[in-house]
Amino acid sequence: MLFNEVAQYYQKLEEVSSRLSMIDILSEMFSKTSKEEIKALIYLTQGALSPPFEGKEIGMAEKLVISSLAISTGAEQKTIEKLFSTTGDLGQTGEKLVITSKLKSFNSKKLTVLDLFESLTKISNTSGVGSKDIKIRLFAGLISNSSPIETRYIIRFSLGTLRLGLGDATILEALSKSITGNRDSKELLENGYNICGDLGKVAYILFDKGIKGIENMEVELFNPIRPELAERAKSFEEIIERMGVACSVEGKYDGLRAQLHMDKKKNKIEIFSRNLERMTLMFPDILKNAFSEINAESIIVEGEAIAYNENTEEFRPFQETIQRKRKHEVEEKSAEVPLHLFLFDIMYLNGKQLMSLPYEERRSKLEAVLVKRKMILPSAKIIAKTSKEIELFFNKEITEGLEGVVAKDLNSKYVAGARKFSWIKMKRSYRSELSDTVDLVIIGYFSGKGSRTEFGLGGLLAAVYNDKKDLFESITKIGTGFTEKQMLSLSELLGKIKTKKKPARVESTVEPDFWVDPKYVVEVRADEITRSPMHMCGKETYSQDEIGYALRFPRIVSDGVRDKKAEDATTTKEILEMFLLQKKKPLSD
Ligand code: ATP
Repeated sequence: MLFNEVAQYYQKLEEVSSRLSMIDILSEMFSKTSKEEIKALIYLTQGALSPPFEGKEIGMAEKLVISSLAISTGAEQKTIEKLFSTTGDLGQTGEKLVITSKLKSFNSKKLTVLDLFESLTKISNTSGVGSKDIKIRLFAGLISNSSPIETRYIIRFSLGTLRLGLGDATILEALSKSITGNRDSKELLENGYNICGDLGKVAYILFDKGIKGIENMEVELFNPIRPELAERAKSFEEIIERMGVACSVEGKYDGLRAQLHMDKKKNKIEIFSRNLERMTLMFPDILKNAFSEINAESIIVEGEAIAYNENTEEFRPFQETIQRKRKHEVEEKSAEVPLHLFLFDIMYLNGKQLMSLPYEERRSKLEAVLVKRKMILPSAKIIAKTSKEIELFFNKEITEGLEGVVAKDLNSKYVAGARKFSWIKMKRSYRSELSDTVDLVIIGYFSGKGSRTEFGLGGLLAAVYNDKKDLFESITKIGTGFTEKQMLSLSELLGKIKTKKKPARVESTVEPDFWVDPKYVVEVRADEITRSPMHMCGKETYSQDEIGYALRFPRIVSDGVRDKKAEDATTTKEILEMFLLQKKKPLSD
């Protein structure tokens, strides 16, 4: 498939304002794609060169692109910079320059999707001394062989500003439609995606082996599994009611979720985050001990990595665990307060997938492989039959510095990528008011007025994610909780992702001064969830007469934006459940 054709589809995607039209355009594009091309096309369309856990980046800064444009179009750097300052989009700038360029390419071969993917991968792989110049030349070569519209998208891609507004679910539905003619196989495809975290792989299997291939997909080592998530409950009684006669109750560690994949024969270990990003290098302390502490040839386990002081037997606060997010702090911190890994699940052992076994069986397999229990241990756990037993354990865990407990259904499978009542979390912070925080997606912002003029940001318009509809529904404006520093950095971040109109997957009748791509997630605390006609959260048809849900007195509590994708924000369903929980009897202290 020629990239020129893909670029036309990208342009159409930018123009539409409904999610269903996006699916139509995408599925038409996919139906013209071959098995050999589909993986590359999926990654390109996601603005990437690999699945997220491989984290392959192209590494072109604006300056490098400008230098490349100067070579490929013969325009002066200054002219390019000037044009860029008027368009604000280097993609458009490049497009205009290619139209007026007097330099003609000697290469008459038209650019295919695979050519483009290969060239971009080559640029991405260029590193070390002199790599800047090589990247500039390679990129210039690519542009001089591209049409104006191709140039627009290649540049945006290289700068990470492609932003077609597509979610994973949109792509999955379009894939379903392109192969089967309708969107009905979306769920099946999603199951495949849940166990490999790689849309390119799912698409390839679908194109190669059809729906049967997807049904037969198996968990594979070093392909991260999308994590199972927990529901909330208001009371210990409710947990027992929902779980049946007995359940397992584990400590809820407030650290970093870590999914560890290990293959002893290959001498290989990888650790993935909740977002399926590879973060192996952040954990030298765990890597050092995994081979000796886990008795298995190959394994996928999941747990929480947390700073723990062995001398005082104290769990350290979350802030201490994440200090090692910055590279230079990793070694220092791992020596000072080594992280311990508290494992709570096992999905794969010695070549066998375990996800469909009941919790109890998985748990005993997990405990059996943890032979040393020094740095890598099983999570604390009891089997509870009454709400009183849960409460006692909860109080004990809180005293030890944990965040609360997670109750687990003894018979449940591991359900990848889903939030189900087979796991129920109970945190110390749950009270009658809404004191659990919510993670909201920023969909727009208001320019600063009065004392906020200098920050360029007066407040945010925020949304929850409706995972059934794959849409972002407005839920609140946020005007408080920001520090000055935060306002400045948010206005800079948001300024870069402003859009001319409301993005296609956003539902809101509140109009901000500027719409932005749903990309950044912030943590927000509010006093209450209220019913309100003003916001779209929870409305069936989004009509004016319906009443949705909104937040009362929202304030931002995260330091900056959270390390979560827009689709990992709090969902509409969770808001509805939290709304009901507010009305129930509060927890006693
Ligand atoms: P929260 O901010 O409440 O942790 P979340 O959206 O990150 O919420 P949830 O699935 O809702 O994640 O809550 C469960 C989280 O608690 C898991 O993501 C996991 O990282 C953490 N956790 C800590 N201890 C356990 C445990 N024993 N079992 C399961 N999850 C645990």
